[in-house]
Amino acid sequence: MRNTHPVLEAIDRHRKDLTALADRVWDTPELLYGEFASCATHTEMLRAKGFRVTENVTGIPTAVMGEAGDGGPVIAILGEYDALPGLSQVAGIAEPKPVVEGGNGHGCGHNLLGAASLLAACALKDWLAATGTPGRVRYYGCPAEEGGAAKAFMVRDGAFAGVDAAITWHPDGMTRVDDPESLANTRMDFLFTGRASHAAATPHLGRSALDAVELMSVGVNYLREHMVNGARIHYAYMDAGGSAPNVVQARARVRYSIRALELSDMLALVERVKDVARGAALMTGTAVDFQVISAVSNNLVNEVMDRAMQQVLEDLGGVPFDAADRAYAEAIRATLSPTDLEAPWRAVAQEPAAAPLCDWIVPLRPGGDKMIGSTDVSDVTWAVPTTEVLVACHAIGTPGHSWQLTAQGKSAAAHKGMTHAASAMALLAERLWTDTELLAAAQAEHARRLARTPYSSPLPADLAPPLVPRPV
Ligand SMILES: [Zn+2]
Repeated sequence: MRNTHPVLEAIDRHRKDLTALADRVWDTPELLYGEFASCATHTEMLRAKGFRVTENVTGIPTAVMGEAGDGGPVIAILGEYDALPGLSQVAGIAEPKPVVEGGNGHGCGHNLLGAASLLAACALKDWLAATGTPGRVRYYGCPAEEGGAAKAFMVRDGAFAGVDAAITWHPDGMTRVDDPESLANTRMDFLFTGRASHAAATPHLGRSALDAVELMSVGVNYLREHMVNGARIHYAYMDAGGSAPNVVQARARVRYSIRALELSDMLALVERVKDVARGAALMTGTAVDFQVISAVSNNLVNEVMDRAMQQVLEDLGGVPFDAADRAYAEAIRATLSPTDLEAPWRAVAQEPAAAPLCDWIVPLRPGGDKMIGSTDVSDVTWAVPTTEVLVACHAIGTPGHSWQLTAQGKSAAAHKGMTHAASAMALLAERLWTDTELLAAAQAEHARRLARTPYSSPLPADLAPPLVPRPV
């Protein structure tokens, strides 16, 4: 199929520019809502390629949207470009070695994610112009996927109004349509306030906020047995009240992540966790305040979109890796544990094989041991029919958020994977424009599901995203 299709020819024309962009973003790893350089390089590329650009989308300085074409339907291609803390790593080697000790790194491959989505949008812009097809393509540069839930804020604030369907992807060890399940997730802080006192001389006058946090943990650990299937709760101490054991801690803050497979179950679980916190406050004579930090929904599947993406993948074939790609992937795999190496095979219900890289297409809905997380793409799935494809960019078994993943982020295999992802997304968009029944069926399915389960944003109406100041 390669090079014989106008959409794929257009991908080839823009490939070098966008591969270079992916490398630039890898070189400047920035954390949630601080992706100023990464967003700027996407914005410059959108302008250079002739898109109509909207910056500061829904008031988020590191969100950008570029549109091309005329009339409808409007197809959105979603990109991301945020990095992770502590995952700085030299590219192209197979041993842990940070570029900057303790620095940020692209340990989730979002440098590829944004660039491939923009590559797809560039190809589609050319194709719309060349064929005179009515329709618009939009590239959405979405920040803060890692813990910032930017897309949930963007959906709540109307960024996807007028969009008919959305397509996105994520770098992976295997090439496949993503599983439909994801966890609705609320991140919230519990701030306990007590009374400081000398812990030896006047302990009876103190009321310990740290005790309250510890009792809350105990209560939540008992709660776990009585949750709906698939729910998850985890926590981190944000402020243990200070470092002096001879002071009764007057304040303490703990952050919880509360997840469930359905939004309604998650919201009910949040209320039960709040009750546990209130109980801990009552037991310790402290006061407790709650503050939601971010929240995302579970995924609303669209079978029509997923089946259409699977067809595109099968027509396109696997990522064309070569012997050098496999040799580097083998070197990376030598650093991984047997459980790491086995996990991706279990996830697709296949016997583990020796292949270092996935150059085939996994069947749709393979079953297997799902590794279910949360993503802010989910809120977009409630706003418009959406599909997400996973494309092989790194050695099979590479854990997410690892130095090994950062190391592979500028490799030839990664560049091939991102080009393949762009091709798949662009081909699906082309089909949605040319096959009006396909788009209508996707939208009808979306409407049916929404009629059964109406959506309301999991974010409080007055909650603003935790933006960070632009560096001077
Ligand atoms: Zn990611």
